[in-house]
Amino acid sequence: MQIYNYINGEFILPTSGKMLDDINPATGQIIAQIPDSNNDDVAKATMAAKRALPNWRALSKDERINWLNKIAQALEERSEDIAKTESMDTGKPIGLARRVDAARSISNFRFFAQHAKQQIETEFTMADATNYVIRKPVGVVGLITPWNLPLYLLSWKVAPALVMGNTIVAKPSEMTPLTANLLAQTLDEIKFPKGVVNIVHGLGPRAGQAILEHPDITAISFTGGTETGKIVARTAGPMFKKLSLELGGKNATIILDDADLDVAAKGAAKAAFTNSGQVCLCGSRVLIDAKIYDVFVPKFIAAVAAMKVGNPDDESTDIGSVISQQHMEKVLSYIELAKQEGGRIAYGGQRIIPEQSSLCHGSFISPTIIENLAINSRCATEEIFGPVVTLHRFDSDIQAIEMTNSTQYGLAGSIWTTNTSRGKEFAKQVDSGILWVNTWLHRDLRTPFGGVKNSGVGREGGDWSLNFFSELSNICVKDD
Ligand code: NAD
Repeated sequence: MQIYNYINGEFILPTSGKMLDDINPATGQIIAQIPDSNNDDVAKATMAAKRALPNWRALSKDERINWLNKIAQALEERSEDIAKTESMDTGKPIGLARRVDAARSISNFRFFAQHAKQQIETEFTMADATNYVIRKPVGVVGLITPWNLPLYLLSWKVAPALVMGNTIVAKPSEMTPLTANLLAQTLDEIKFPKGVVNIVHGLGPRAGQAILEHPDITAISFTGGTETGKIVARTAGPMFKKLSLELGGKNATIILDDADLDVAAKGAAKAAFTNSGQVCLCGSRVLIDAKIYDVFVPKFIAAVAAMKVGNPDDESTDIGSVISQQHMEKVLSYIELAKQEGGRIAYGGQRIIPEQSSLCHGSFISPTIIENLAINSRCATEEIFGPVVTLHRFDSDIQAIEMTNSTQYGLAGSIWTTNTSRGKEFAKQVDSGILWVNTWLHRDLRTPFGGVKNSGVGREGGDWSLNFFSELSNICVKDD
């Protein structure tokens, strides 16, 4: 398979003619060739987006909402294709790709269509004048997304950007470009206005950096790692671009002494190992009250042992491969580091080679549970972004809060207790953007999503996304 950039409604090769390999990490096979785009391609895409802007922003909001619903409908018709493609590109289980990736990519368009409809225009009346607060699009916006939830995260930005009247230059991760290409094909099929959405494929430091640096791109919405986020901020900040940064995490799952331990063990296992631990919200540190530690841990290990690792095509698989061989090596190196740091492997700890011969070169790792590490060890503070969780004891809620807040990150976390008031009080003291009590990854798309500290700047979701993708103007009209 060969995929192309989607610029001004045309599928075109990159200017340089150079292509990159896209690999299925479950098989190690090359599945596609993708453009290795550069400044010239980004310039073309930006020019197309700039030309398309006046007509797109001139549509009524209702007309743009209709387009979002059309996109959702067209994606829904190919939802199985999205799920299969996402599973093949990422190595994630097909069931997860259906339930999470395909379903959410479609619902992102439906949600923002609905949500934008309900947006209230603000007015401030004075004794002799009225202030009308109106929203204008920001202009041409740059959207840069990671590989863990490819179309899910891209559509989470595309939908609100479009509905607010912006035009787009997007760069999906070079490791998972295929569903962005499906989106381009879908737009082409429904005869979506040319140039409004442009997709440029390629490497971050080349194609991504060109988006950051282009003077006609006035806002950047970036989701990815914290180190890349620093480059984004460093480049786009001095150009006064509007910036949204959704970055890494090292989230805690906190088991209080009054938790229902069976429920908490299953919840903590899901929080740690969904998508092979490759969700920014994954709970990769489990903090457990010392009073229940010895009862909880065997239940947690049993819940993890019940997870089936292997063939992503198998409906019953819970954990597929990690994103690449390079990433597998990084995750395995952290497991080795944990041993050097005094950690004890309570479960897993190694690469898995599934029985199917087609998967023998795949990047599969057993879900891994590590005990006995200091809370400030590297494995317990750095984002591993793989199927590895560290367990820690605490003696009091105060100590648990200190431990929870002890990393550079502040994205999410979950607290498990039978006393929800206690859970809520605990949550108020945690420095992070999202806290769940007795659940994990339970999402209402109207709520703010984002992190504090090195997990990012700004919020996405509901009104926050609509605000980011619009500029407010206050028009003050003096009474006659
Ligand atoms: P990454 O930072 O390596 O890449 C993200 C995107 O940025 C990719 O498209 C990449 O090509 C691009 N990029 C890389 N260098 C660039 C540069 N110099 N200029 C512009 N673009 C550049 O991240 P990743 O490995 O793809 O994804 C994993 C990371 O994403 C983890 O840290 C995870 O926590 C984070 N993440 C965060 C959220 C969130 O909502 N907070 C969601 C998902 C993933």
